Amino acid sequence: MVLVEVIGHAAAALAFATVTAFTIRRRQQLTRTLSRNATIAYGAILVVSSVVALIHGYHAVATLLFGDILPVSDAIYIALHSPALVALSIVILFLSSIKLVAERSPRPRRILAIGAHPDDLEIACGATLAKMRDAGHEVYAMVLTCGEAGGDPATRLCEAHNGTAFLDLCQVEVLNFNDTALAEQANEITRAIEARIRAYKPDIILTHSAHDQHQDHLAVHQATLRAARNHSAILCYESPSVTRDFQPTFFVDIDGYLDVKIESVRAHADQRGKPYVSPERLRGVAVFRGSQAKTRYAEGFEVVRALSSALGDM
Ligand SMILES: [Zn+2]
Repeated sequence: MVLVEVIGHAAAALAFATVTAFTIRRRQQLTRTLSRNATIAYGAILVVSSVVALIHGYHAVATLLFGDILPVSDAIYIALHSPALVALSIVILFLSSIKLVAERSPRPRRILAIGAHPDDLEIACGATLAKMRDAGHEVYAMVLTCGEAGGDPATRLCEAHNGTAFLDLCQVEVLNFNDTALAEQANEITRAIEARIRAYKPDIILTHSAHDQHQDHLAVHQATLRAARNHSAILCYESPSVTRDFQPTFFVDIDGYLDVKIESVRAHADQRGKPYVSPERLRGVAVFRGSQAKTRYAEGFEVVRALSSALGDM
């Protein structure tokens, strides 16, 4: 009888542990949904499934060692936890069913996004990059520094990979140029960008704006223009440090993707506390650019060059 109970608890522990593992593996799909509460639901699934798995694991071991320890009958116990498994499955199915589905592009493009620091791309154009990926475009990212002037470089490197992984980018490369001193490494940076342009053969290049008061951002903008001198489509995104001269004329409709962007920025926990990473600020910029573009939410870009055949249906 004790053996049956041990097997029962072990099986239940395994079932809930499987739910936990499945949820962690599918984090991206489960939280990239049309519901703002998806992250809360995701956290609730994780907490409930892992706690129940631990309780059953404990009971399996304790029953094996000390015999029948439960104060209530097995029937009552099973009646209590079985609905939990069903409820968790329903929540997971619900999250899966409200997943964002972007219209697939009939003309997939290759996009290279270039940023100076680990969080620049997510903050400035994270929603655009996520939407492009869901539409079937290939999106590559290069980040020129580990951001060591703004935090621990190892942590920021890890966060750069987490943030861009959440956006589902094909590849992100974080280089090791000196943070805050990119202007002094202009030739090396230009060569690094030229090498990625040769490797990825992008149709569209996204980079910092000329109207940006951060010296690194400006250096990356200038290096990109030199490296992409023969390139037909270059768009400049909006960092929090752009000046009032930043005047976007190209907009990407990011309705449905704003929460994906906010979640990808949240991956940069090291930068938490900086006012421009707050969901409120990100939402405000998206609303403002949306109002300029006569839509709900948008990300704005300045156009250096935009050949229609290179842009495709971006
Ligand atoms: Zn930056």
